[in-house]
Order: sequence, then structure tokens, then C-alpha cells
Amino acid sequence: MSEETRTIDGREVTTPERKERNFIEIEIDKDLASGRYSHVQTRFPPEPNGYLHIGHAKSILLNYGLAQEYHGKFNMRFDDTNPTKEKIEFVESIKADVEWLGADFEDRLFFASDYFDTMYECAVKLIKKGKAFVCDLSAEEIRQYRGDFTTPGKESPYRNRSIEENLRLFEEMKEGKYPDGAKVLRAKIDMASPNINMRDPVIYRIAHESHHNTGDKWCIYPMYDFAHPIEDAVEHITHSICTLEFEDHRPLYDWVVNECEFEEPPRQIEFAKLYLTNVVTGKRYIKKLVEDGIVDGWDDPRLVSIAALRRRGYTPESIKMFVDLCGVAKANSSVDYAQLEYCIREDLKLKKARMMAILHPLKLIIDNYPEGQVEYLPMPNNLENPDLGERQIPFGRELWIEQEDFMEVPPKKYFRLFPGNEVRLMGAYFVKCVSVDKDEAGNVTAVHCTYDPETKNGSGFTGRKVKGTIHWVNASTAITAECRLYENIVDEEKGKLDENGNLNLNPNSLTVLKECYLEPNFSDAKAFDSYQFVRNGFFCVDYKDSTPEHLVFNRIVSLKSSFKLPKA
Ligand code: ATP
Ligand code: MG
Repeated sequence: MSEETRTIDGREVTTPERKERNFIEIEIDKDLASGRYSHVQTRFPPEPNGYLHIGHAKSILLNYGLAQEYHGKFNMRFDDTNPTKEKIEFVESIKADVEWLGADFEDRLFFASDYFDTMYECAVKLIKKGKAFVCDLSAEEIRQYRGDFTTPGKESPYRNRSIEENLRLFEEMKEGKYPDGAKVLRAKIDMASPNINMRDPVIYRIAHESHHNTGDKWCIYPMYDFAHPIEDAVEHITHSICTLEFEDHRPLYDWVVNECEFEEPPRQIEFAKLYLTNVVTGKRYIKKLVEDGIVDGWDDPRLVSIAALRRRGYTPESIKMFVDLCGVAKANSSVDYAQLEYCIREDLKLKKARMMAILHPLKLIIDNYPEGQVEYLPMPNNLENPDLGERQIPFGRELWIEQEDFMEVPPKKYFRLFPGNEVRLMGAYFVKCVSVDKDEAGNVTAVHCTYDPETKNGSGFTGRKVKGTIHWVNASTAITAECRLYENIVDEEKGKLDENGNLNLNPNSLTVLKECYLEPNFSDAKAFDSYQFVRNGFFCVDYKDSTPEHLVFNRIVSLKSSFKLPKA
């Protein structure tokens, strides 16, 4: 990686140069070089009306990453200008999510509603400049007058009110003289503009509603397209990064910051939203899944809210890796969920101990092993990362193994246990299957083996070879735990939505295994701890339902992947 030095704010700073700069970085480079801006400041501006999801994570990490890259600042701002929809409960969850992702906004936590005075002053300024007017048309009439893509709009009969009259009426709107909908304040731009957003857009409306921050101080509230550029300008944001659907609103954004005469006005840059295949991000759908009891809340591990990903066991590092892999694009596209799984596997594989856990237990009895004896065997915590050290695991006469590691009548190329066959018990001894116990229905209830004491792991034995190695847990010292396995919440084959717009749900999205057996080294596992379960995937302790007496694990991801990193 080569480095690059440039001057920002009079200081020489060196930033590592990546292989390819994305189009936003290219724009910022130009702005710094031309002197349009002398610093970089970005923001994440969520509406506090729901939980954040993986798409928001992209926006957070993009904005925070750019601020870091250019030695600038990153603001956290709640866009709480709409009194009807916002709920204060979301403020805390959003803050927690942003902090968890590592996007440090330091002391720059802002609320757009704190700028209501400034917004009002800006509106008055526009009226005084003859750039805004109070309009008495109804919402429906405004829509009709607006025209469409082929027909130009028609001017409002109130468009030419005098500045004095507009000032008086706007003041009266603020004082509560008029009911909701009776009047609006509109920007006076151009009813013939090919861009419909520029056809005298509404910038203030009357709403006799309490606001969570400002209470009953206001009964007029600014519209998003007017409020947002002012919020950015007040905070000295330079690059206001938003998603593609706002591209057509950019001329209005520029109009507002220019007409309100802000110094070093911010500029808006749009990028494509992140979409994931086979997951549900829409608030409407998630709300229904919660209400119907299909998921156990906004943080159900099958969802991709940030809270759900955290609960499932995803790490901030894995999400950052994922977002970086996706890149920043100008065109919408969908990313395969498998790519997210690839990132968490990559992140955890060297960091986490590989522990023994049996998900579908079958009893194995070693007939020639002394009854009541328990010996401790050393086991490396992670073969690929010796720094993680080793641990001791108990071994005894009765063990648990996976049901799928035994077959009475094996198919070809089955190298695990079957009558007469010998396998290695991972880190322990060779065992040979000698007989089975069955219940009345003929199901195998236990497998009997004999072990060869000469084959103890690491004892220097060089004799016979076996083709299969299976994992195991000593029964007398095992911890019983619950494990939850997940699949996509939507049915991959049928597609996300049916013809009525309802979700096609996958009936197997959750499998609960109530009796799994774990080696005793799990005894101090606590909420959010994660491990690799040998051969079974990565698992994380569920923070909601797990207790020291009854451990509950979520499978984060299995070990096998269908996703391959494209060759660079
Ligand atoms: P949703 O409707 O999915 O909750 P939103 O756009 O209404 O999303 P906001 O709270 O308004 O959510 O958005 C906060 C920021 O997150 C905005 O800057 C928005 O552009 C960005 N954002 C939202 N969804 C995505 C996405 N899927 N990919 C990237 N950025 C996104
Ligand atoms: Mg929104």
C-alpha cells in the first residue's frame, strides 16, 4: 500500500492510498484541491422512527470512514423534525448501535429539532427576499397545480402576496391562528421547472402536535427538503452523503443553502442503497413479523437490524469488512447474504477457540475403559492460531457423539463410525465400534466401542491409520445447553414476496435444539461470548435468554460457505 500526502487545514496529513478510490473520495479530493472546502465533515442523520439495519450500517461506516480518512469530523444527528412519527425510545437504541459499530461521534450528538429557531429565521429571510410565500391552496389543489413530468405547473393565486402580508401570515401560522392544512409556506422558485421538486415546494406546514423535544412551542414544522440542508449547514457539514432517491432533490438542496446565504455551504452526494438478498429490512414487514409472533422482537437473530446482528454474534469488524467489500456504487444492486457470512467467518476463525459441543447427541460407551475414571487431555484452542494456547478436556467411558457420525449400514465413502470400523476421537484415542443398543422400535440408542490405549493423541503412536476423526464430549462432565440454528427467514426458492405482497416465509428458519452437550470449559460462557463449535460452526451466547444455569447459543454461521471472494 502506498501512502499519499496532502494538505488539509494547513496541516500535512498522510493517508494510505487504496487501490481504487471510490467516486465520493474522488469528489472530496477535488473539493479539497480546489479550495471549495478546507476540511471534511460528515454526518449520520437517522430519523428516530425505527431500529437501524445493515443498510444504515453502511451509511454510518461510510460517513465515519470518510471523516477519519480526511482527518475530519463525524456528527451524529437525529433528524427529528417530524413530530408525528418519532419515538424517543429509538434514540437510545440508535445511539447504542452507532457506538457499537465504532463510529465515534465524540461530543457531536445533535438533534435537528434544536435548530427549529434557525429554520424559522431562514424562512423569514426567504420571505423578506421575496423567495417564499404563504399559500392557502389545499394539499389536493397544490398537487393538481404542480403538474407532472410532461405538463408544467400552474402558479398559485397566492404567489404574488406582498412581503409584508407573507410575513404577517407566517407569523400568524406560527402563533397558532390557523388549523392544520389551512396554509403552508412555499418556496418561490419556478413552476415551469422540469424538476418537479423545484415547482414552489412546500417548506413549512401547520401541525398542532407536541414534539418530544420542543413540546408545544411550535405548531409549524419544516419539511424535510428545507430542514435537512439547514441542519447540514448549521453543523458545518461539507459532504452530505445520502442515498440515490434524493438525487432529484439536490437542486432544491443547493437552492436552500444558497438562498439562506450560508457560508461554505454543504454539498449533497448520493450513493446507492445497500440491499441484501433474502432478508427483511422494511419496517413495515418487521413490525408484522413481530406482531405475528414469528420473530421475538426487532433483534431476533434472523433479522438484519444492527441489534439482531449483534445478538446473533456478528462483530463490528465483520460488518465493516462487509461494507468495504460491497464498495460504494452509483447504481442500486443486491448483495448476497452469503457475503456477510463470509465476513464473519473470516473475522472469527483465528480469534475464537474451537470447542467441543454435540448438537444431536448419541451415546458412545467404551466397554474396555475403566468405569468412573476421568482423564484430562490437552487440546489446542485453535490449530491455526497457537497464540490462543491450549486447554484440558475430560475424557471418560461414556461420551456423546453426533448422531450423524454413526451409521449402522454405511454408504460408500462413509469413514465415520459403523460396526467394525475404527475412527479417531479428536485429541483422544482410536475407538472401534463393536455393537449397538437399540430401543423397541429398532432405533440405535448407544454405540459400544473398544478403545486402544496405545493410540493416545501425541503419545508417539505410529501404527494403524484411520480415515475418520469425529468430535465428542465426555458425558459425566458435560454441560447441557440449548442451541438455535437459523436459516433465511424468507423462502429463497419462492422469492421474498407472494402475489399479495406478503412475505414468503421459510418454515424452517428456526430450529431449537434443547439438549446439546458441551465440554465443561463452557462453564463461564456469558452473554455475547462466541466460540467455534468444532465442525458445527460459530456460536454466540444469547444475551436475552441465556443464564448461567441454562446456556442458550445462537448459531452465527456454519463453517461451509457458498461464497467465494472474487479474485482481485
Ligand atoms: P429505512 O426506511 O430502511 O428505515 P430510511 O432511509 O428511512 O431507511 P433514515 O433514518 O431516514 O432511514 O436514514 C438514515 C440514513 O441512512 C440516511 O442517510 C439514509 O440515506 C441511510 N440509509 C438508509 N437505508 C440505507 C441503505 N439501505 N443503504 C445505505 N444507506 C441507507
Ligand atoms: Mg426514514
